[in-house]
Amino acid sequence: MRKRTGNLIVISAPSGAGKTTLCQKLLQIMTDVKMSVSYTTRGARQEEADGVHYSFISAEQFREMIGEGTFVEWAEVHGNYYGTSKLRIQEILSSGADVILDIDVQGARQIRQHFPDSVHVFILPPSMDVLKRRLEGRMSDAPDVIVRRLLKARDEIRGYRDYNYVIINDIVDEALQELLSVVRAERARVERFDHAWAAASFLKEEQ
Ligand code: 5GP
Repeated sequence: MRKRTGNLIVISAPSGAGKTTLCQKLLQIMTDVKMSVSYTTRGARQEEADGVHYSFISAEQFREMIGEGTFVEWAEVHGNYYGTSKLRIQEILSSGADVILDIDVQGARQIRQHFPDSVHVFILPPSMDVLKRRLEGRMSDAPDVIVRRLLKARDEIRGYRDYNYVIINDIVDEALQELLSVVRAERARVERFDHAWAAASFLKEEQ
């Protein structure tokens, strides 16, 4: 049997670039791709459920978990803490599924150090104007939060060069096709191939 451990795929984007929608669509199409549910200290938005979108915890709990070594990476984003659980990603990877980490550029940097063969994708909006309009249309965030997010967006966009792929999310379905191509192509890389299986299946002298 061919052996396959999942790929670790990091997706970053300034908020409002449409990353969440893209990831949800990707998960619907590829059932062997899973999102890792992060821990955060920010409050849940109306449409968010605990344990589904995030595990919502207090700052005190978060600090305790840092001490216990729960996180493979964590960062402070927009005044709140966010972190990825080591255990959660290991469980998904060992099941053979790819894992998507929807994390910011600081977290992506830490993942790159721990997992040099992780795949990093940056999603860009088509323009700064579109990004602003998308954030304003999102009624869940207060005006001062939007201003903070726009300033942060510029900072984050500066980091795109460290990523392996850049996808511009203008037309969602086109961006989705590009993302699907990346996930599928990464599976076919020779570096990830099960050479023992190829040797046993095709390269024995007597065959
Ligand atoms: P939001 O509050 O809009 O859900 O997310 C804000 C930012 O935090 C996004 O850029 C998102 O990618 C990032 N984020 C979410 N989970 C994590 C995490 O576990 N680690 C890090 N470093 N960033 C995260």
